[in-house]
Amino acid sequence: MITMPEPHSDTARFSLDTRAAAIRRMGRDTFDLAIIGGGITGAGIALDAVSRGLSVALIEKSDFASGTSSRSSKLIHGGLRYLEHLEFSLVREALRERATLTRLAPHLSEPLAFLVPLYKAGIPSALGNSRLKLSVGLWLYDLLAGRENIGRHRWVSREEALRLAPRLQSNGLRGGFVYYDCLTNDSRLVIEVIKTAASRGAAIANYAAARGLTKDGRRVSGINLEDRLTGETVTLRAGVVVNAAGVWSDEVSHLDNAEAPGRLRPSKGIHVVMPSEKFDNQQIAVLIPSLGESRFLFVIPWCGRTVIGTTDSDYSGELDEPLAEEAEVARVVESAAGSFPAAGISDDDVISTFAGLRPLVSANGESTAEVSRKEEIFESESGLITIIGGKLTTYRHMAERVVDLAVKSVAHAMPSVTSQIPLAAGEKLAADIDVQASSAAAEFEAPVELVRHLMRSYGGNFRVVLEITGESAEFKERLIEGLPHIAAEVVYAGRYEMAATAADFLVRRTRIALLARDHGVSCVGRVAELLGG
Ligand code: FAD
Repeated sequence: MITMPEPHSDTARFSLDTRAAAIRRMGRDTFDLAIIGGGITGAGIALDAVSRGLSVALIEKSDFASGTSSRSSKLIHGGLRYLEHLEFSLVREALRERATLTRLAPHLSEPLAFLVPLYKAGIPSALGNSRLKLSVGLWLYDLLAGRENIGRHRWVSREEALRLAPRLQSNGLRGGFVYYDCLTNDSRLVIEVIKTAASRGAAIANYAAARGLTKDGRRVSGINLEDRLTGETVTLRAGVVVNAAGVWSDEVSHLDNAEAPGRLRPSKGIHVVMPSEKFDNQQIAVLIPSLGESRFLFVIPWCGRTVIGTTDSDYSGELDEPLAEEAEVARVVESAAGSFPAAGISDDDVISTFAGLRPLVSANGESTAEVSRKEEIFESESGLITIIGGKLTTYRHMAERVVDLAVKSVAHAMPSVTSQIPLAAGEKLAADIDVQASSAAAEFEAPVELVRHLMRSYGGNFRVVLEITGESAEFKERLIEGLPHIAAEVVYAGRYEMAATAADFLVRRTRIALLARDHGVSCVGRVAELLGG
C-alpha cells in the first residue's frame, strides 16, 4: 500500500540536502515509476505521475534543463508554421496547452503580440506576400484556439506596423498582421515543474546519471545510477522506467538493448541575444525572413533583451554543448540588419548566442524543418518506455499520455490532475502584476522594479526572495551592473531550487549568462560563495 505524501508548501526546501536524502531513498525504496532525464519532458512526467498517487523518482545527469529545455525560442505557442503542414491536431493541442499554462502559471506564459509584416511582391516577407493566404491561416489559428484564445488577429496599416516596430524596413511595406502567442522562461518552467513534483513527494536529483539498466528476467526493473557529486553508485528499483533523455534517448535505449535501432534525428537551432534598444520593439515580437533560406526568424523581446532565432539544420556533432557557429550567427545578424535597417545592427551588438538540439524522430528524406514536432512514445520488449520529440508547449499533455501508458500495471493510479495544479504559486499572483508589485514594494521597502523582476522570475514565490533580503543587508545587493538580479536570489536558488554550481544559477535559475555582456563572469565568485554558504 502506497501512502501519498501531502504536498508541502510551495516554499518547501529543495536543496543539496534534499538531493542527498532523495538519493538515499533511491537506494532504499522501490518506486512505481523512475524517469531518466530532467528536461521539460521528464519533469512533466514526474509531476503527472506523483500527483496521481504513484511513487516517483527522477534523475538528471547534469543540471535540470541543461539540455534542449533551456535553449528554446521561449515561446508557448500553437506553431503557426505547422498549419502549412496541415498538422491541425498538433496546433490545436498546443493552443489548448497554451491556455492551460497561462492559467496555472501566468508569469511563465505571458501573452505577447506578434507582427508579421507584408511587403510588395519581390521583397521577401517572413511568411510570403499573400495577404489572403495569411489571413486564412490566422483565422484558422484563432479558430483552433477556441474559447480560451488570448487575442484575435487583426490587419494593421503600414503606419501602425511602423509605430509598433519603428526601425523595421519600411521600403515596400504594405502593412501586416498582428496575432498572439505567449512568452516563457524555459529553464524556469522546468525548475518550477520539478519543484512541484518534489513538493508532492517525488525523489529527484540532478547530477545523477543513468549508467545502466537492471533487469528482472527480460523486464527492466531499475537503473544503476552514478551520483556525479560524490562518485557513489546506487541501484534504483522501479516498476516502470521512462527514458525522457531528449537527444540522448538513443544512448539510454542502448542501455536496454545494444542492438536497438537509433530513432533520433537531431536538428540544431541557434539564437542570438542583442540589446533591446536597437530594435525598439519591447511590446511586440516581429517575424522576419531568414536570409538565403525559406524559413523565418522571430525577433522577440525577452527579459529586457531581444532574442533572434531560430535556425534549423541537421546535426551530427557532440550532444552535450552544441555551439552556435560563426557563420550561423553571421546569417542571423545579417537577416536582422536587413529587416531593421534603421537599427544599425552589427556583430558588435551580439551579447550572447545559444544553440539547442531538437530531439526529432527519424523521417526518411524530409528536411528537419518538415519533420513533425509531434512526440512519439515507444515501449521496448523489456518494458522501457521512451518518449521523444514534442514541444515545450505540450509537455503537460505529453506527460499525461506517457503516464497513462505506464500505469496500466499500477492499479491504484488515478487520472491526470495536472491541469489543476498551479506552478510557482501562480495562484498568488494578482491579475494586475503592477498593482501587486507596488503594494509588495511598499511592504518590503524594496524598489518596485526589483519586485516586478522577482514576480516575473519566481511567480507567487517572489515574497520568499524578498523575505530572504530581510536576513542580511548584503542579500539586497545587486550581483551585476545593469541587471536587476540580487544576492538573495542565489540564496533562494541554493535553498529552494537545488542549484549546485554557479553555472546552475547563472545559466538556468536566472539567465544572467545570456543577458550580461560578460555572461556573469564578474559575479561567479560571489555566486559560488553564496551557494556554498
Ligand atoms: P531535454 O531538455 O534535452 O532533456 C533531456 C535531459 O535528459 C537532459 O537534461 C539530459 O542531461 C538528460 N539525460 C540524458 N541522458 C541521461 C542519463 N543517462 N541519465 C540522466 N539524465 C540524462 N518548443 C516550444 O514549445 N516552444 C519553443 O519556442 C521552442 N523552441 C525551440 C527552439 C529550438 C532551437 C529547439 C532546439 C527546440 C525548441 N522547442 C520549442 C522544442 C523544445 O525545446 C523541446 O521539445 C524540449 O525542450 C525537449 O525537452 P526534453 O525534456 O525532451 O529534452
